[in-house]
Amino acid sequence: MPPRKINGGESHGDKQVDAMLKVDIATAIVLYLLFSLMLVLAVWIWYALRHRPKSLQTERKTALRCDICLHTFIASTEEKSERCPRCQSWVAVPRSVAQV
Ligand SMILES: [Zn+2]
Repeated sequence: MPPRKINGGESHGDKQVDAMLKVDIATAIVLYLLFSLMLVLAVWIWYALRHRPKSLQTERKTALRCDICLHTFIASTEEKSERCPRCQSWVAVPRSVAQV
C-alpha cells in the first residue's frame, strides 16, 4: 500500500491549496468582525462573572428633619442619632425606623 499524499495527489494538489487560500474579502471582514465580537463578549462575560456586585444597598437610610433649623437630610438607620449637616445639632433617629 503506497503512502497517502497530504495534498490529495500529485496531479492537482497545488490547485486545491490555492482554492483554500483564496477567501473573499467580504468573508474575511465578516469573520474578523465576528471573532472580534466574540472576544469582546467573552471578556465581558468573564468580567461580569468575576466582579459581581456584593449588594446594591448596604445600609438602610431614612429622612430626618432637624428640630432646630428644620433642615431635612438623609441619615443611616444604624445610628441612634445623626448630626444635622447645616447646624451640627444632634437629631435622634426615631425608634420605629432605627435598626438598633
Ligand atoms: Zn439643623
